[in-house]
Amino acid sequence: MTSDPSIVYFGSVQHGNRAKFASFAVKVDEVVMKLDLSTIEKKDKVAIKMHLGFQDGYQTIPVFFVRRIVEAVKKTGAYPFITDNPTSVYNAVNRGYTQETCGCPLIPFAGVKDKYIYESKVNFHGLKSLDMGGVLHDADVLIDLSHVKGHNTSAFGGAIKNIALGGFSGPSRWNKIHGIEGSIPYWDANKCTPEHAKKLVKACKDGYISYNEEKHELTLSFGMCHQCLDCIEVDRDVECLTLRPENYALFQELMAINANNILKTFDDDKKFFINFAISITPYCDCWGIAQPNVVNDIGVLGSRDIVAVETASLDLIAKEGLIEKMVPPFFRLHNDPGLHPFQQLHGPMKSPYIVLQYAEKLGMGSQKYKLIELLSPEKTMKMKPPKGVSESEPTFF
Ligand code: SF4
Repeated sequence: MTSDPSIVYFGSVQHGNRAKFASFAVKVDEVVMKLDLSTIEKKDKVAIKMHLGFQDGYQTIPVFFVRRIVEAVKKTGAYPFITDNPTSVYNAVNRGYTQETCGCPLIPFAGVKDKYIYESKVNFHGLKSLDMGGVLHDADVLIDLSHVKGHNTSAFGGAIKNIALGGFSGPSRWNKIHGIEGSIPYWDANKCTPEHAKKLVKACKDGYISYNEEKHELTLSFGMCHQCLDCIEVDRDVECLTLRPENYALFQELMAINANNILKTFDDDKKFFINFAISITPYCDCWGIAQPNVVNDIGVLGSRDIVAVETASLDLIAKEGLIEKMVPPFFRLHNDPGLHPFQQLHGPMKSPYIVLQYAEKLGMGSQKYKLIELLSPEKTMKMKPPKGVSESEPTFF
């Protein structure tokens, strides 16, 4: 028995007509309308989970679109609020997000001290539980509103990452989720002398291997490692270091578990996923830096299926490819056309699809999808434009 593919609605940034009806803004509204917010009930508390960014980063979802989505939710009679970690909420004004501009309150998902939390059991490679944001947990409806971009550890950040990391307190994110990759042993201390360990440190030109001589402890930053294998070359005669795909995959498997734990707190008809594949940067918004866009703007995708919306986003990015001249010179690109653009950036062992395989296994959704493009350029090209109006109501001249 084959199941039907999940529907993913898509609006391209490309338009086929110099008219309002064909513009990207209208396509965003169309995607939201097709998602059918009517399953949201009056007075429901609607968490619009975003990454509001940090410090000097500006490539988050423009408030212009956020406000339109907030207004659409308000029409259902429900109460939307935007939520993210306390730091991002506190500094959100720097990126233009305020109650006045967004049209609804901005509330930290785990309280002002990041301590309003629920225990979320994971039991994964020695990690028993994580702290889920209490405000997010208490909401009736989830709108997972994500900016699609690259990510150094998982290669890709979208709807799953927005809740899998972005739904948990700071100590959970930074001290427990990040670093899980090292929980499968990868270095044999008995085979390695301090001299050899120092050679390995030197072999990694980017500084992702460190060595504590006093404790005779070597640490590799899987989160940053891009698998150039220079260290493995230096280790050829000793073989104390092993870089297995399994280590890199642990982060993505844990992401799937975390996202699933959050999704389980919402009814099936109260979960919506909207991905903005624009301003696609190599690293995540957490870095808090302005970055070059390494893939052309693509558009907006919406679905009731988190796995489908992520798969479709990744497939569209693969089709688009990297803008190589925009890739920062410190990246050592893997120039293999068979790799996804995010693997070319972050390494072949970091396929961005890994998380989707785990998510599908957990029953979170399907990688099989049907992409329905709304107001495509081909279609809108054939539509008659209205008579030229360059300034609509109210007019001041
Ligand atoms: S594979 Fe390359 S980037 Fe990764 S730790 Fe080794 S030398 Fe560094």
